[in-house]
Amino acid sequence: MNLSLSEDQAMLADEFRKFFGDLSSMERVRKAEEEGGFDRELWQAIGEMGALAMRLPGEDGFGTFDAGLVAFEAGRQLVSGPLIEGMLASRLLAQLQAPDELLERASTGDAVVTLALAEASSGPQIVPGGAIADAVLVLDGAQVKLARPSERASPENLAGQPIVSIDFSECELENLEGSNDARSLFLAALEEWKLLTAAHLTGMGLRALELAGDYAKEREQFGRPIATFQAIAHPLADMASEMTGSDMLWRWAITEIAQGGEQSTAAAPMAYWFAAQASSQAVYRAQHTFGGYGLALEYDIQLYVRRARAVAAVLGDPRDQLIVAGKRLWLDETSPLPEVGSAQVEFGYGEEAVAFAEETRTFFQKELTQEYRDNAHFSYDGHDWDLNKKMGKARLLFPSWPIEHGGRGLDDLATAAALQVWEDEGVTSHSQYVSNLVGHSIIHFGSDELKADIVPRLADGEIISCLGFSEPHSGSDVFAAKTKARQADDGSGDWIIDGQKMWTSGANLAHHVFLLARTDHEAPKHRGMTVFLVPLDDPGVEIHPVHTFQDERTNATFYENVRVPDSYRIGPVNGGLEVMGFALTIEQGGGGFVGPHRHAVEAAVEWAEEAGRIVEPRVLERIAAAATRNRASYLLYWRALHLKAEGGDRAAGPMSKLYGSESLLKDAVDLFELAAPDTLIRGKHGAQRLEHEMRHASVTTVYGGTSEVHRSQVAEAFFGLPKSR
Ligand SMILES: Cc1cc2nc3c(=O)[nH]c(=O)nc-3n(C[C@H](O)[C@H](O)[C@H](O)COP(=O)(O)OP(=O)(O)OC[C@H]3O[C@@H](n4cnc5c(N)ncnc54)[C@H](O)[C@@H]3O)c2cc1C
Repeated sequence: MNLSLSEDQAMLADEFRKFFGDLSSMERVRKAEEEGGFDRELWQAIGEMGALAMRLPGEDGFGTFDAGLVAFEAGRQLVSGPLIEGMLASRLLAQLQAPDELLERASTGDAVVTLALAEASSGPQIVPGGAIADAVLVLDGAQVKLARPSERASPENLAGQPIVSIDFSECELENLEGSNDARSLFLAALEEWKLLTAAHLTGMGLRALELAGDYAKEREQFGRPIATFQAIAHPLADMASEMTGSDMLWRWAITEIAQGGEQSTAAAPMAYWFAAQASSQAVYRAQHTFGGYGLALEYDIQLYVRRARAVAAVLGDPRDQLIVAGKRLWLDETSPLPEVGSAQVEFGYGEEAVAFAEETRTFFQKELTQEYRDNAHFSYDGHDWDLNKKMGKARLLFPSWPIEHGGRGLDDLATAAALQVWEDEGVTSHSQYVSNLVGHSIIHFGSDELKADIVPRLADGEIISCLGFSEPHSGSDVFAAKTKARQADDGSGDWIIDGQKMWTSGANLAHHVFLLARTDHEAPKHRGMTVFLVPLDDPGVEIHPVHTFQDERTNATFYENVRVPDSYRIGPVNGGLEVMGFALTIEQGGGGFVGPHRHAVEAAVEWAEEAGRIVEPRVLERIAAAATRNRASYLLYWRALHLKAEGGDRAAGPMSKLYGSESLLKDAVDLFELAAPDTLIRGKHGAQRLEHEMRHASVTTVYGGTSEVHRSQVAEAFFGLPKSR
């Protein structure tokens, strides 16, 4: 996986950010709006920069990804002119061997050539850039034709754009004879239009959020910055997650097409719909952050609202693209695709990680009995000691641990890729997840005794760990824990632990609990805590089951006079904050939920196919929306893993967890309703599986930290907003 831009790509993006920043200031955007939505001087400068020639076919041409970076930057600055249509029209003119003079003028910014998004025969249609175009390319059956409509003015419109309605049946149309595959080339260009427009809308949405974040830091009400109100900060965090997902989706869609991936024909409509809906929500939320001022014409934010909504409407209802995507995903429809060139970024886990994951899959396929599969459960309840030990022996449990500690010395991507296989095969990964985190923490902070005694037994699969952070009165506020540890006064150095933990999942199976306890009552809250490894077979420990709505057993655990040696302390005395911080970065959140989300989509498809309803547009639309959000979830998860390996980004992990769990919940509920009433009955397949996924989804927005806690983290790290507890 490599999601970083290449040096050339980064330079291209920087260059255009500066260029559009200089030449498409908000003053010029406003002036262009007043004059029909077109800035001719800017257009010529864009031509001189080579942007309109970027997609000319040929060896030296730029790829769609590069064009996407330019479209993104143009979106940030609300460029006044049909840039994307112009780029693609130049490409088509070259492919269709249009007159050289027109091609030359179109690709250098001397003329404006645009595209009609619907067929010539479809009656009057709104053409982007049509009001200022010297020529329009339009699809007419098997041919692409050129219209040179006479002078016309754009009607007053939402974003002051140079759009106009043209009825091509009333225009003289010139044939472009250059290719006998003209229709395919034009349809491929329309797919590319969706990809570039997705990038463009993403630029707009993200820039609008930046403006809102900056305003929230400055604007005061009730004596403090409005950013300190969660009602302001949290929706911005949600939108930042959506828009970052959108940014990943257009990039992924291009690579998917480049590689001929499984979803390549659906990728462009998926990315387009996602960007259209996400940017519409983001600009609305950004505008609302400005209160009344968001509506005042002097404020730039309303320019973003109008432009984003206008761009997302020009192709018609964006949700139609979900139906298009659904037909391509599940009804074998297809479409010509653009030659996108090389994207250079790489999604997915990478060869080494995939090879490890495949080894895991082969192991499961050999070892999983029918009995195991029948009793499989997503939680600790599905834990199987025999399987765990066999996995330990095969060194399949903790690939990212060093070899000398029983791992494979691989990176986090191997763990992530393998966990998708666990998910596919229905094997619970709860104990792996927790034991991985505990083992890493011991290797990093633990005593030699723990490294010698506990780590090898975890690696061999003989024991597992559980977590003891939450208490009856402290969940989100984890450092308010009251469980205490004091050093015994007999000079042994041992610690005596007293207190109660709540939600100690897996304590009924685990050998020890990774427990957070207060060791200094005088110190500030976050500075007086220490982490211990507490063996659960101590007579002072009591474990009481707690059963939950999603069929997951967890526990309340009680500790009375439990004595642990000092060597069972993890990290320094009162160093709990550091240990917890390290432990929480082991897994950069959210990855655990992409699998259930995918299962919900698969179950809905299974139901729709069996019920003969997969052909219904409403059904396709809703399942495709869920599949697209699930894709965005994967991408945010991969992004978090990538950024962690690159040295970290504090927003990426919480963003992945937040988006992953909230979008799972949204879709699990929606698909439950779509397939109702069959979803009322419990079972393992189709609609019946959706009953379970719907109940399971609820807990994903709670454990590992609730969505509110993650929203605060995203607001702080992404926007630099102050704490909003
Ligand atoms: C099935 C299950 C298994 C679990 N397993 C474990 C485990 O193995 N080990 C472990 O230590 N814990 C575990 N947990 C606990 C889990 O981490 C907590 O439930 C979670 O952190 C929330 O704490 P709480 O339940 O006390 O809710 P609270 O923190 O009381 O929150 C109640 C509500 O208030 C909101 N809220 C709280 N603080 C804020 C704030 N600052 N701003 C805005 N809203 C806020 C929350 O978002 C939530 O909606 C598990 C929980 C469940 C349900």
